Amino acid sequence: MADRSLRFGLLLRLGVVLVVLLALDAVACYFTSLYFANVVYDRWLIDSTRSLAQAVRAENGRVEFNLSSAALQVFQFDEVDKTYFRVTSTRNGYVAGERALPDTETVPLGGVRMAYASVNGQRVRLVATRLAPAEAGAGAGSGIGSTAGGDVGSAAEDTVTVEVGETLAKRSTLAREILLGMAAPQVTLLGIAILLAWFGVSRGLKPLTDLATEIESRDQNNLAPVPHRGLHRETRVLVARINDLLARLGSAFHAQKRFLADAAHQLRTPLAAVMLHAERAERAADTQDERDAFRALHRSVERAARLIQQLLALARAEPEAATALRMQPVDLGVLARRVGEEWIPRALERDVDFGLIVPDERVSVTGDDRLLAELLSNLIDNALRYGHAGGSVSVIVEGGSTPKISVQDDGPGIPLEERLRIFERFYRLPGSGGEGCGLGLAIVQEIASLHGSTVEVTSGGDDRGSRFTVVFS
Ligand code: ADP
Repeated sequence: MADRSLRFGLLLRLGVVLVVLLALDAVACYFTSLYFANVVYDRWLIDSTRSLAQAVRAENGRVEFNLSSAALQVFQFDEVDKTYFRVTSTRNGYVAGERALPDTETVPLGGVRMAYASVNGQRVRLVATRLAPAEAGAGAGSGIGSTAGGDVGSAAEDTVTVEVGETLAKRSTLAREILLGMAAPQVTLLGIAILLAWFGVSRGLKPLTDLATEIESRDQNNLAPVPHRGLHRETRVLVARINDLLARLGSAFHAQKRFLADAAHQLRTPLAAVMLHAERAERAADTQDERDAFRALHRSVERAARLIQQLLALARAEPEAATALRMQPVDLGVLARRVGEEWIPRALERDVDFGLIVPDERVSVTGDDRLLAELLSNLIDNALRYGHAGGSVSVIVEGGSTPKISVQDDGPGIPLEERLRIFERFYRLPGSGGEGCGLGLAIVQEIASLHGSTVEVTSGGDDRGSRFTVVFS
């Protein structure tokens, strides 16, 4: 699956919801604005219709529409929309105005009817009102006007319909302007909402990122439960599952290590016996071939015994064994002398110049003497095995606030890119000859970390060989 961010996913969903809400709000807002624009302009249109109706008079049974041309101009003046009117009478038909206006449904007498219609290809809002024309008094109505022709009859029976129509440009412009006026604050609101959602989501996800940091910062031996104080319920469930898994892993590791330690322990005695018998058989052999075969057998058993001894050392150095540690003040100088002496025969065998550089004063650290001796033994063993025959190996002890013990050789050295990997269990540099199974430095590392110290690998003196330094703090 692609590398998808939970924060981005949540924000995307929230963002989509907000944008849809905003769009719905804009549509609602547009139609509400249009509704109120219609209400306002409809009222104005009704007023205009009623004003026009004032100009309708019945004179001697004839319906007349008398409106001065100035008044008509005022009525029809509009920069945006086109305005139409028409006056018809039931008896005489067309009286005045725009003939093209469509016929509206019959309007109740004295009432008003609103409708939409199409005039000259444009949509218009239409208002129609029907009235009984007032009988004109003497001298009434003198301006421009029309007189319905036809039969003259009783004006009282006649009714007049006045229709006024107006195109819709003003209304939609007003609705659009209201909409646009609201758009800027709406978009700003959307921006603020997304920003707040970003902060909210980030805060909400913080327990998860804290959890990831906590797990990331652990070393592989730390299988202690992850603390779940202050976490949300959903995250607590996740942590509980992780802790279950850690507990199961912990007991599986523990069982595996115990099995390894037990097996190594059980193998020690029979192997010692095999070694003894191989030595005896070698001595008692009649032919050179038999002697060679028993010597090879002896060497193989020796290698197996060393592996077993290292596995046991590793088991002793596991963090689980920390409770069995016998921590006490250890003088690194004394330790270096004691362990160093054990390796003198081997150094002589290899014709190695084996030196010890120890300060006069005590260099005391707190540690388990047996484990620290194991650590130093492994480093010296490596230096003698991987260093050149006829070369030199030194054990150096330094005092001060951070006491150090180092083993330095002038052998082939360790490439920079391998200086971390050599501490992995069973890892050996490609081409490493001789005996060895890649556990020595893993043991060194475990013992050092049990003592809260670190192991540094650098080049030896004159940039040759290698130097392993255990730094105590
Ligand atoms: P082993 O010695 O049993 O192979 P170690 O864990 O002690 O395992 O060492 C791992 C590897 O590191 C060795 O195989 C070797 O290649 C390399 N190494 C260790 N010490 C030295 C050294 N002093 N000089 C050169 N290479 C070394």
